[in-house]
Amino acid sequence: MRDIAALKTALEGLKIEDNPALVKQKSRDFFWYSPVLKRELDHVTADLVVSPRSEAEILRVLETCYRHDVPVTVRGTGTGNYGQAMPLAGGVVMNLAEMNRVLKISPGRLVAEPGAILHDIDVAARASSGQEMRMHPSTLKTASIGGFIGGGSGGVGSIRWGGLRDIGNVLRLKVATMEERPRLLELDGWDLQKVCHAYGTNGVITEVEIPLTAAYDWIDVIVGFDSFERAAAYGDDIGNRDGLLLKLVSPIAAPIPQDYFLRHRRFIPDGRHICLVMVAAHALGPLLAVTRRLGGEVLFRSDTAEDTKGLPPAYELSWNHTTLRGLRVDPGITYLQVLYPYPNHLDLVSRVHAHFGDEVLAHLEFVRFDGNITCFGLPIVRFTTEERLDEIMRIHEDMGCVIFNPHRYTLEEGGMKQTDEVQLAFKREADPKGLLNPGKMIGWEKPDFDFGSRRNYLFPGLQPAS
Ligand code: FAD
Repeated sequence: MRDIAALKTALEGLKIEDNPALVKQKSRDFFWYSPVLKRELDHVTADLVVSPRSEAEILRVLETCYRHDVPVTVRGTGTGNYGQAMPLAGGVVMNLAEMNRVLKISPGRLVAEPGAILHDIDVAARASSGQEMRMHPSTLKTASIGGFIGGGSGGVGSIRWGGLRDIGNVLRLKVATMEERPRLLELDGWDLQKVCHAYGTNGVITEVEIPLTAAYDWIDVIVGFDSFERAAAYGDDIGNRDGLLLKLVSPIAAPIPQDYFLRHRRFIPDGRHICLVMVAAHALGPLLAVTRRLGGEVLFRSDTAEDTKGLPPAYELSWNHTTLRGLRVDPGITYLQVLYPYPNHLDLVSRVHAHFGDEVLAHLEFVRFDGNITCFGLPIVRFTTEERLDEIMRIHEDMGCVIFNPHRYTLEEGGMKQTDEVQLAFKREADPKGLLNPGKMIGWEKPDFDFGSRRNYLFPGLQPAS
């Protein structure tokens, strides 16, 4: 039996929250995007939220919780979509919102505390030295850098720079272990793979160093097409043009823009499929020349639109913001995460969407993946039952797609359906009692789990619904 009162006494002097309503608020993320996770995790809550203000306080929380056998789940700002930051077994949520300082900016690099908000990082880098981050999730304004590295994968900028875990896209991390005497480790090079996208299951990132690139004025352009195939082919074409500096290329099928992009829909005629583009100001002319040649119609340009007041930036229509805008209008939808492998990605996209028709609406994000331009999909699914959702994913896989299942809370099921042995080995070293974010790494909880069975993993320690 956990003695939370004793833990609280031992943590005296730290910023602690134990009001159940506030603790529950800080125990949640955007898990409710998934009807499956909503059913499984809605009741989950921690016992306490502790908000350290320094590295020394992080170490004290880890040491004390280790001594009291209490799990610790790290939280940035809780914008993850798969319950990553939810404390499945209760215990402490370690909220890093107060550790939000940008510490150092120099040519090509920036050092920050883990709770720094991505938008603040970009503002500071731009103001001090005309630089910006290489990539960010569409949650630029709300997500933290520690949460992006711990739980994200890429996003706006990935068309140029690839994914967050690609070597070079994070330079150095300082990581605290959860042991009798927590250590601070400096990781770089391939060692970064130990904790990048590990959901905080094997260490707490206490400081990050990331690369910067030159900042540009980015212009939002929306290009319209009469078929989705042409919008997708356009995205592929411009994504492959090496001389065009782009930050976002997102083909989206009708009627998603008309039904869900409430502020932009006045620019988008009925039935028109679109491609969202963010282009550097100096590359706009060449982009427009390519667009004319490919028969696209420019529906919107942020540099010339007469009234842009109240319009969100294009990146807040893209990536998982597309889904969010859909959910706000129609809570009955959900989504998938799909990779259409290079080089047959366009053909695969066509075949998949011809198969499903209106049940699965196309939304692509072009990215550089292992050196090639290909596309991820975050299609909108008209949800009926969990069985049908599983069947839709199975059909995608049978047709040759890779599914990153957003309706599962474990690293493996949300990823490549296999345990990352490097992350597992690091967990053995850095978290011997298995107290960091329990339930998220199947390789630790149930090494003989059979991924081929297609059964989903249910963490036995998941706290019961009361
Ligand atoms: P949290 O949700 O708080 O945490 C994420 C994970 O990282 C958790 O497992 C947490 O335990 C762990 N973690 C947090 N801080 C640390 C730390 N210091 N040390 C170790 N582990 C830590 N993701 C993308 O990759 N690209 C997108 O474009 C994108 N778009 C999104 C759009 C919407 C509308 C939403 C709701 C989500 C989107 N996401 C996207 C998912 C999410 O926003 C990103 O993963 C984001 O970067 C998470 O940051 P956060 O601070 O909210 O992290």
